[in-house]
Order: sequence, then structure tokens, then C-alpha cells
Amino acid sequence: MALIRNQLFIGGRWVAPVRTGFIDVMDPSTDTVFARIPEGAAADAEAAVAAAHAAFDAWSRTPLAERAGCIERIAAGLKARSDELAHVIACEVGMPKKLAARVQVGGPLWHWNNYEALARSFEWERRVGNSLVVREPIGVVGAITPWNFPLNQITLKVAPALLAGCTVVLKPSEVAPINAFILAEIIEAAGVPAGVFNLVTGYGPVVGEVLASDPRVDMVSFTGSTRAGRRVAELAAATVKKVALELGGKSASVVLDDADLAAAVKGTVSSCLLNSGQTCSAHTRLLVPRARLDEAAQLAATAASAMKPGPALAEDSRLGPLVSAAQRERVRDYIRRGVAEGARLACGGAEPPAELEQGYFVQPTVLVCEDSRATVAQEEIFGPVLVVLPHDGDEDAIRIANDSPYGLAGAVWAGNEERALAVARRLRTGQVDINGAAWNPRAPFGGYKQSGLGRENGEYGLDEFLQYKAIQLRQPG
Ligand code: NAD
Repeated sequence: MALIRNQLFIGGRWVAPVRTGFIDVMDPSTDTVFARIPEGAAADAEAAVAAAHAAFDAWSRTPLAERAGCIERIAAGLKARSDELAHVIACEVGMPKKLAARVQVGGPLWHWNNYEALARSFEWERRVGNSLVVREPIGVVGAITPWNFPLNQITLKVAPALLAGCTVVLKPSEVAPINAFILAEIIEAAGVPAGVFNLVTGYGPVVGEVLASDPRVDMVSFTGSTRAGRRVAELAAATVKKVALELGGKSASVVLDDADLAAAVKGTVSSCLLNSGQTCSAHTRLLVPRARLDEAAQLAATAASAMKPGPALAEDSRLGPLVSAAQRERVRDYIRRGVAEGARLACGGAEPPAELEQGYFVQPTVLVCEDSRATVAQEEIFGPVLVVLPHDGDEDAIRIANDSPYGLAGAVWAGNEERALAVARRLRTGQVDINGAAWNPRAPFGGYKQSGLGRENGEYGLDEFLQYKAIQLRQPG
């Protein structure tokens, strides 16, 4: 029996949408309907914007400690429902449940707690000469999010926006929306005042475009594809909204000639395959010294083949399915196109994995590609596909890594940190990991070039939802 959600959260109440249409949410492991959600209309989005607009004045003036108290209660609510959330996200995204519990629920929980703590340590105002420079909330925020790390992407917008004193209308991905309904219930139970947080589900070109264009929305924060992000920025320009964009990537893992090749390949394969390759910052291009291309391909094939695909709720699954049938077909087409353009398959391929006839599974695949301009070396595939490319020294590796319209993340592997750091400084990307260094949730996350505008995480993410006001005082500071 599919789970049914038939109301939207607007102005502090669960309300029926103006139309009766539903959107099916598929379970990608089984190719069955997991849930049904309302197909919100433009009028629903407009009602939510009106509620957020009406709530802004009071919320923005609510004492910081009270806003932080709400954040703390939301974090507690998430913790209490974390097992249910991991189950839901495993069913709507397809990530193996144990991993989903750690990454898809543990990550957001960390951020909600961190924003509560940041309320106390953040510099909300300072004196500059005779000015008092204060940080004030931007206003009404339209938040539009994708399906791949759904609760995390929602959290990185909603938590800092609420702490800043902004009010929010959230339009989550229609592909993985149930976690957003649970969050809305938690926010309601936490006693957040009516209209401060609103949830409207539906399709991007309908609900999302209202948020991007409505003059009462002061900022639109979007995570998703570069194609839709460009459209959101175009619409937002008409009313000069602030726009934050977290978009796609094609990140390179650069292995220098003195690096530990086995460690570099292992680290890159696991980054590439996280969430079945449906991770915007995945390291999907492995750049290795030309003399070690075959050795690297063999190591990558061994590591990738060990990742056993299976249903998200099965105990022994290492690699879930892709999120949708359309996504699976897109990825298979890329594999075929890669081979047609001259790449060699080191493992995997476009055929479905053995014994998995149901569900949207794709084999973990390694393509060895001599041409860094080939389609599979240039475009974001968003599937479990690693492209191994040769380079002829540090300068050549930097050139290939930067030869991309994207600039989200990357890695450098070298025998010593100084040399790795010199290369890291030359990569035109928002993040670079050296020799497998750990993910840091406090560090700014965001893209150079067509990977986006603005930053998320920690204080850098809070910054996005604030603007400066300079108040000149008669007495010098
Ligand atoms: P998508 O762009 O199709 O959808 C993202 C969101 O935008 C959804 O809520 C969708 O309904 C909405 N949308 C679609 N068209 C719209 C329009 N015309 N106006 C307003 N909203 C619209 O992306 P997706 O398939 O959900 O997610 C995958 C993409 O997201 C990948 O390209 C990936 O790289 C990117 N991504 C980026 C980051 C990052 O932080 N940089 C994180 C995760 C995913």
C-alpha cells in the first residue's frame, strides 16, 4: 500500500491543495509506487508565499535565543524520528538504509545542531569606525531542492534561513519528497510560528517558477541541475532577487606521479560511487600518469566490481539503484556513447546487473578514455560510472582537470602535501581534498564556474541568508 500525503503545509496549517492531482513517488529498488503526494498548483505556491511574507516581520524581530530554541527542538524532533527518516529516504532515493541513516539523516542532524550552536558564536554585528554594521535577514526565501541527498539539501537552506530570521517556502524534489513532509511535521511540533515555514510540493516549472518570480520572495536558494538553475536565475532577475545556486559537477581526482596509486584509486572509486554516483561533488574523473593508466584501470575495476548492487532495504547491498527509470536510461546511454566514442570498458557496462531484473540498477562501470574531450569525460553522468584518463605531468593534469564548464570539487593525491597543495591551489573548484582527507561539514561548499553561486554549510551558509546594514553613529568606534 502506497503512503498517501494529500495536504500541504501553509500558514501553520495542513491544507488541501487547490487541485486534486497527485504525483507518484517510486521506490527505485522495486519499481513500485512508494507514495503519492499532492501536485501543487501555482495558487498553492502563491498562498505559501503570502503566508511567509506575512510572517516575516514578527519572525525577523523574534529574539535570536528563541529562534535558536526552535532550531534545537527541530534537531531533537529529527533525532527522535531518525530511523523512520532513514527508511523513507532508502525507499525514495534507493540508498542502502544503513548508509542512508549515517549520511542522509546523520548529516542533516549534525547541521541542525551546528546551526543552534552558531547562534551563539556568530558575529551578528560589529563596529567599523563610526558605523554599527548589523547582519539582517534577507526576507522571504524560496527553497528549491533535488532528490539525491534530499533532507541534507533542505536542511542546508531551511536551518540557516530560520536562524537568520528569514521565512521560507520549501519546494522539495517531487522525486523524493516524503522526508520533507516529516520535517514539516517536526517543525510544526517544535512550535515554529505560523507562516515561518511552508511546504508546497509539485513540479518545478509550476511551483518552483512561482518562487523564482514572485516579487514577495526576496531570495531563491536552488540546488539541482545547471539547466533548471539557469532558468531560476533568469526568472529571479526580473525582481532582482538574491540567487544562490548549487548545481552540477564533473570533479577530477588528480593523481601525481609520486602518489600512492592504490590508495588514490580506492578513495576515488568510493567517492565516485557514493549514492550510486548521484552525488554532485563525486570525483568522477580519475586522472593518472600515462605510464600507470592500465594499472590504475585494473585497480579501479577491482574496487568498483566489489560494490555489490542490491535493493536499499537488503542488509548486504553496497550500491543501491538509480533514483528513476529515466535516470537509469540516461546513464546506460552515456556508457554506450562512451564506448562508441572510443573508451574501453574496464568493468561494468550498459546491461543490467545479473539477478536484478526489478528496480533501476546499473552496474558499477569503469571507462578508460584517452580523450579528455569525449562526452563521458565532459558531461555529468550522475550514475556509477568512473572515467579514467591519462595525463602527462602536473601541468597537463591541471589543464585537463580545469577543462570543464563545472567547478564544484576535486582531489589531489601526491607523495607530499606541499606538492599536492600547489596543484590544489590551481584547480578552479570550490573544494579540493588532499590525499583522501575527510569531509568537513563546517567548510564552505559551493561551485566555481557553472557549478553555482554562493556557499552552503556552517557559517558560510548562514551568511547567504543575511544582508548588511550600516548604521552611522555620531560617536567614533
Ligand atoms: P533538477 O534540476 O531536475 O531539479 C531540482 C529541483 O528543481 C526540483 O525540486 C525540481 O522540481 C526543480 N525544478 C525543475 N525545473 C524547474 C524550473 N524550471 N523552475 C524551478 N524549479 C525547477 O535536478 P535533480 O534531477 O533533482 O537533481 C540532480 C542535479 O542536481 C544534478 O545535476 C546534480 O549535480 C545537482 N546537485 C547539485 C548539488 C550541489 O550542491 N551543487 C547537490 C545535489 C545535486
